Amino acid sequence: MTRAKIKAVSPDLFLITLPPPKPGFEDFISVWVKTGNPSFLVDVGPSVTVQALESALHELGIRSLGYIFLTHIHLDHAGGIGHMAQRFPNTPIVCHPLAISHLGDPTRLWEGSLNTLGDTARAYGPIQPTPENRLVNVENFKDLPIKAFITPGHAPHHVAFMDGPFLFAGEACGVHLELASGDVYHRPATPPKFFLDTTLNSIDLLLAQRPEIICFGHYGLSDQATHWLSFHKKQLMLWESILKDLLDQEGEEGFFRACLERLILEDPLMSPFHGFDLDTKKREEDLIHNSIKGYLGYLKTPG
Ligand SMILES: [Zn+2]
Repeated sequence: MTRAKIKAVSPDLFLITLPPPKPGFEDFISVWVKTGNPSFLVDVGPSVTVQALESALHELGIRSLGYIFLTHIHLDHAGGIGHMAQRFPNTPIVCHPLAISHLGDPTRLWEGSLNTLGDTARAYGPIQPTPENRLVNVENFKDLPIKAFITPGHAPHHVAFMDGPFLFAGEACGVHLELASGDVYHRPATPPKFFLDTTLNSIDLLLAQRPEIICFGHYGLSDQATHWLSFHKKQLMLWESILKDLLDQEGEEGFFRACLERLILEDPLMSPFHGFDLDTKKREEDLIHNSIKGYLGYLKTPG
């Protein structure tokens, strides 16, 4: 069994890192847990790391949870939810209304993940069904002070949560990695079907809440939440202009290579890419490929 890493970011907020058995994914998949009243978990990680998550919660002395919040139902965020629903039988699971039927019967979700992610989906492990009576439509969730914001973009069923100054952004603000050198790598996460305007509107909704601390789905946190949200908007527009420029490149592989080269050259927060080890590079290339595919679909048929 892989072991989770627990990092306290405040006396009652913890980042739990869940490494799946795949090289390059060591410090990438994580969940957030808040102790106290109410206690809650934001995302649960894939099914393959669910025992590691349970051990980490045990280590933190968590025997029950007030809520489980799902930012979206991609396998690396929600794959373990069927198991966690059983492990915490009294905990409401709050998610986007579009997610409910997919979690109740995850057959299509699993097949779609295999198609998009291939071996990575297999490494994450299949998702077990969750009884629909355990799932709470986020539109009906009104438990102040935790607020939920419907933020389609990275996924149509994406939700962000806010607790006081903390914004649990899922992937609404892209992927953020702070490197050992102190450099930051930050990129869009825009798999198909991607709609730029919808994504920008979701970021505006989050900016309007004036969060202070942003807790990323991937990875870690920053106390400059509005800076990163505003920066990410500009980055999404920069990617649009670069990728638009290259649309007449021949062949999918040629198009992808040309895009990657230009993005690393012209987007300052992509430049740490060249310093990654081979496994991390491979992970990032695959995920950037999906993001470029999202843009491609959008640029060919916007709206
Ligand atoms: Zn995702």
